[in-house]
Amino acid sequence: MVTTTEPKQQVKIGPTKLLINNEWVDSVSDRRFATINPSTGDMICEVAEADAADVDKAVQAARHAFKSGEWRNMSATRRGELLYRLADLIEQNIDELARLETLDNGKPLQDSLGDLGLVIACYRYYAGWADKVQGKTIPINGPYFCYTRHEPVGVVGQIIPWNFPLLMQAWKLAPALATGNTVVMKTAEQTPLSALRVGELIIEAGFPPGVVNLLSGYGPTAGAAIAHHRDIDKVAFTGSTEVGHLIMEAAAKSNLKRVTLELGGKSPNIVFADADMDAAIAGSHEALFFNQGQCCCAGSRLFVEEKCYDEFVARTVEKARQRIVGDPFDSATDQGPQVDQEQFNKVMSYIESGMREGAQMLCGGQQVGDKGYFIAPTVFADVRDDMKIAQEEIFGPVMSIIKFKDINEVIERANNTMYGLAAAVWTQDVTKVHAIANNLRAGTVWVNCYDVFDAAAPFGGFKQSGIGRELGEYGLQQYTEVKTVTIKL
Ligand code: ADP
Repeated sequence: MVTTTEPKQQVKIGPTKLLINNEWVDSVSDRRFATINPSTGDMICEVAEADAADVDKAVQAARHAFKSGEWRNMSATRRGELLYRLADLIEQNIDELARLETLDNGKPLQDSLGDLGLVIACYRYYAGWADKVQGKTIPINGPYFCYTRHEPVGVVGQIIPWNFPLLMQAWKLAPALATGNTVVMKTAEQTPLSALRVGELIIEAGFPPGVVNLLSGYGPTAGAAIAHHRDIDKVAFTGSTEVGHLIMEAAAKSNLKRVTLELGGKSPNIVFADADMDAAIAGSHEALFFNQGQCCCAGSRLFVEEKCYDEFVARTVEKARQRIVGDPFDSATDQGPQVDQEQFNKVMSYIESGMREGAQMLCGGQQVGDKGYFIAPTVFADVRDDMKIAQEEIFGPVMSIIKFKDINEVIERANNTMYGLAAAVWTQDVTKVHAIANNLRAGTVWVNCYDVFDAAAPFGGFKQSGIGRELGEYGLQQYTEVKTVTIKL
């Protein structure tokens, strides 16, 4: 099927069924749901809607694949080769996947291509780890030989969000497969299409049946069924802090499945007057507006030192005004639509709350065009810490600029949040760099940069921004159980 809003936007739609046991199947209920093009508000196509019965089927397939020979007995090197092969296939189909991502999510095509660079790197990074996961020999007391094995956790449920569909799929699948787990993944209801196309490539790469099962469906039904399932050994979730609480509760009530969570944020981005101002302004702009502001680590509390505040605000507003909002398939576009009507409404209600609470709106604040979910880049200055826009995750192109005077004060204020995902500082003073890097309660601190991601560098949250880490060696550890073997000599 081809959508034809304009010839240049032709996109090939891949599979729209559920992937269970390497077969494309309808849902047990036979229900389907629409996935919407956020640029127009029109339906792209319908996709099979998984529910608890489909989760059961997928878990059975994953359990069977975990227990039976082919996957369990496959050498670690061969598992790595399959992941390398998958990375190669994604690379060979990069344009098609990028277009599908842009159609379903709304992000500019060059951003989809950027995500895919990280996707491919992530699969390759963990492919390399597959045969390097090893235990220890431990010199215990007595006539014993003691060693540890790092074994897969088992059947892993993975629930991913809509803001980086392909990248979140890679962050979750790659370490799980490298360590020999089997997977039941639920994609976000807003963006099911690209992950399903990767499902085809997973089959083509040669992964045995049941190792990867992909379900499209809603959170409170299919997602909750995964979180509550008694035959799932671990659940890995990326999404809102609110749902993170539900996942953990479900894990506790069902079978104490292992839980890793990557949740919301309200990340402080701190600009000192001694910073390279050009870099700080450009970096802070991207830190907030990248991906339509739909990043859990967005630099959404922008603290600017009093001494450079006026200049910073003026230049930042100028830059926001120049941001091109429009057709995500147009190479000139910087910013596409928000992902759906619900997110659009939510962001607009935060803009209203900022105005109501007395922040100064210097640009934006309105919808762009009359169809789709486009919002003009919006900048609020003179934001106070107690305003809603400074406290809650907006997940949209709305910047909140807050004034500060000195370093101790800003550290205190930056930490005054339930979140702790990321933070950044812009300064040329190495003393300030260390003070910020050591004292901010956040899983990542960027210095004179923002949103620098690498498959080798761990990412995750302090406090209510999450539990555990993804990426790097730390991410790998979340997918193994340690077994101690003690042999009498
Ligand atoms: P957002 O508000 O940004 O959409 P969510 O946390 O609601 O973030 O969604 C992230 C993922 O979690 C999606 O795949 C969604 O379907 C899923 N989800 C939503 N609610 C639940 C739930 N109650 N149980 C399990 N998964 C859920």
